[in-house]
Order: sequence, then C-alpha cells, then structure tokens
Amino acid sequence: MKEMISLEEARELVLANVDPLPQETVPVLEAVGRVAAEDLRSDIDIAPFAHSAMDGFAVRAAELASASVEEPVEMDVIAEVAAGDVYEGSIGEGQCVRIMTGAPVPDDADAVVKYEIVDVVAGDGKPGSRVAFTAPVKERNNVREAGEEAKAGEVVVEAGEVIGSAGVGFLAGCGVVEVPTHRRPRVAIISIGSELVDPTEVPTPGKIRNSNSYALAACAQAAGATPTILPIVEDTLEALAAAVSAAAREYDFVVTSGGASNGDFDFIKPVVEELGELLMTTVNMRPGKAQTFGVVQGTPVFGLPGNPAAAYVGFEMIIRPALRKMQGYRHFTRPVVKAKLSRDVKKNDPRRIFLRSTLYKDDAGEYVVAPAKNQSSGLFGVIQRSNCMAIMPEGLESRTAGSLIDCMLLDVSEEVSL
Ligand code: AMP
Ligand code: MG
Repeated sequence: MKEMISLEEARELVLANVDPLPQETVPVLEAVGRVAAEDLRSDIDIAPFAHSAMDGFAVRAAELASASVEEPVEMDVIAEVAAGDVYEGSIGEGQCVRIMTGAPVPDDADAVVKYEIVDVVAGDGKPGSRVAFTAPVKERNNVREAGEEAKAGEVVVEAGEVIGSAGVGFLAGCGVVEVPTHRRPRVAIISIGSELVDPTEVPTPGKIRNSNSYALAACAQAAGATPTILPIVEDTLEALAAAVSAAAREYDFVVTSGGASNGDFDFIKPVVEELGELLMTTVNMRPGKAQTFGVVQGTPVFGLPGNPAAAYVGFEMIIRPALRKMQGYRHFTRPVVKAKLSRDVKKNDPRRIFLRSTLYKDDAGEYVVAPAKNQSSGLFGVIQRSNCMAIMPEGLESRTAGSLIDCMLLDVSEEVSL
C-alpha cells in the first residue's frame, strides 16, 4: 500500500471496490432522480392517435389552396369533436369539423386551422354554422402525429439513464408505472471520539457535540443512500472493532469519522487492518489528508477524519462517487467552472487544496470566486455559507487576484455537464 495517493487514485480505488446493488422495483414517482436498471418500453404509440394541437377547425388542406382575404373559402361546420371524443363520420367537400385541443383529427381531415383566424359568417361557429378561411393551410398543420414521440414497444428510457421529473411523466404516459432501479445503499454512520456527546445534550467541559454524524448522514441522503446514525464510539480499539465489525455485517457501506490520524487514540486504521484489508490511509488533499479505506467482511469501510470540513470534503470527493456507483449512476464528478479569484491566495502546502468559496457574477457578468477568509478544517458554518470549492492544484504556486481558478460547484448534480 502506498503511503500517500492522489485524490484520483483514491476515488478509483474506492470505486473499484463497490458494485451496483441488486435491483428493486419502485412506483414510477419514486423513481425520480434514480437510475433505470433496465431498458423501459412504451406499451402504446405516444401519442396514441393524431390529435389537434389547437382549438380550431379540422379541414382538408387542398380545399383551402386558393383562400385569401379577398376571396375567402367558406365551409359548413358539420360536427364538433372534443378531447376524449372521436368523430367517426366523413367530411364532404365544403365541410369542416370544429375540433378542440387534444381531440383526434377525423380521418377525412389533414390539417387544423386555429379558431382565432377563422371568420364566422353565420351562426356561432358551432355545428350548423358557416365559417370562412382567409389563407391556405399546410397539410398536417397543428396536427400532433400518432407515435411522434415513441412507437409501441420502443425503448423510451435506456438502462443507466437518470429519470427526471419529465421522465416520470413520460414513463407514466407509456404505461410504465413501476420502474426497476438499484437498491439504495444502507450506510452506517459511526462517529468516533470520547469527547463527543449527542446534539440533544449540552456538552460538559472537554466535550463537544457530535455534529459530523448529522452532516455525513445528510450527505449520504443527498447521495441517494439510506443512512443510519449508530451510537458514538469511544476512543478504544476494542469498542471501535466491535462497532465496525457489527456494522460491516449489517450495512452496505460503513462510514466512520474521527480517530483517523496517528494520535495515541486514533484506532480506525488498526481496526480495519485487524478486521479486514486496509487499502488506503492518506490522500494528497487539504482539508482531509487522513482518509482510511478498506474492506471488512466484504463491506467497504471508510474512515473519515474527525475535523468537520475534512470529513465533509472526504465524503464529497470519495464516498459520494462510490454510493452513486452502487445505485447505477455513471457520472461521478460535480460540474467545474472557471472563475476569477477575488483576492491573492498564498500556497504554502503542496497538497491539492479545496478552498471553501462563494462563486458569484460581478457587474460585468463574469464569474468571480471569493474564498472564505477562515479555511479552518474545523468549521461547518463556512461550508454552509459557501457554494463551491475553489481548487488550488498540487504544488506551491500561489495565485493572484484576477487569475482564473477551477471551482467545483457544490450541490449541483454530477449529471449536469457545464
Ligand atoms: P480526530 O480525527 O479524532 O483527531 O478529530 C479531529 C477533530 O475533529 C477534533 O477536534 C475532534 O474533536 C473533532 N471531531 C471529531 N469527531 C467529531 C464529530 N463527530 N463531530 C464534531 N467534531 C468532531
Ligand atoms: Mg479523535
């Protein structure tokens, strides 16, 4: 095992140790945002029949070829067809049918002229009236064709596609009311630290509230997984080994935070090594150098650092892609845009640095990124108020105000390509 690996290597390593989970079938509405595990087909043509896109009059286009304002073509309105009805009669020469949006276009008609541009000569425009057309119409004008969007039996959503809100509607129209997708990963969240107390408590001297478990559970949920916050584990080898071993048996993925460095009471590395296979301990990034990963009883176990921002970044950059792969997603990188730095940034650490930052547009409409003043890895509030991570690449090159820098957008889906 290499001591220090790059973020890309870390991500590849973790991705290589997870697979898409078995399928489950969910009601189509619950499939929103999830990945279709199989090709999905329509049982009927979409649209099922040629129908009118307008309220108007169904005509034969050829009969209006000579129509003009000077010499309008008059016709008798012989019937009316509303959405949900069918007009099965014929339409003779000099005749038209009043038609509503969504109603089937009668067999004898080949175009619809919208209501607003037709003059009513006698009557009220309903059956029994006489109307005048003052312009020709193209064949199939205002007709939405049968099978325009899909033919019966055709694949409408492919395996691997992420189903959006519109996709839910599309599938509903295609008669797909249940969707096969990959099961959500069940993720165990374990915070390690003898200083930790539950958020419901007021910490006594020396203690702090366990905020990581909540942030990490929220991150897991945002990644589509189902998190369970397990009890806080004290800083002993025995307690941690028991907790990790039990979680590895019951969950699809185990996330711990804390106890990840080389302090006297940091036990995640020896525990993973003792219970299974330790595959990584250190990633060349900041915050969050101490990132432990291994496999215990066939279950991926990831040990995040205890510092809140370090834990958050580790989850975001390495665990989230794995949880997405387990659900069948194929894109693992958040969108990155270039922006001008709002101020000079000195670099005195050769690691890749993720600066918690705010991206905004200046008066000229150009993107500017302002790194938060306090980049301490102990802070959650700074991330709460940020919308991106500005990325200072490996090395010691400082950057000046106005220079372009890559910014990874937070909370924007990996499916969005920018
Ligand atoms: P560690 O990785 O255990 O050395 O922890 C690094 C820092 O993060 C220490 O200041 C811890 O008190 C803090 N910390 C560890 N776990 C948590 C947690 N669950 N919630 C909030 N802060 C934590
Ligand atoms: Mg600790």
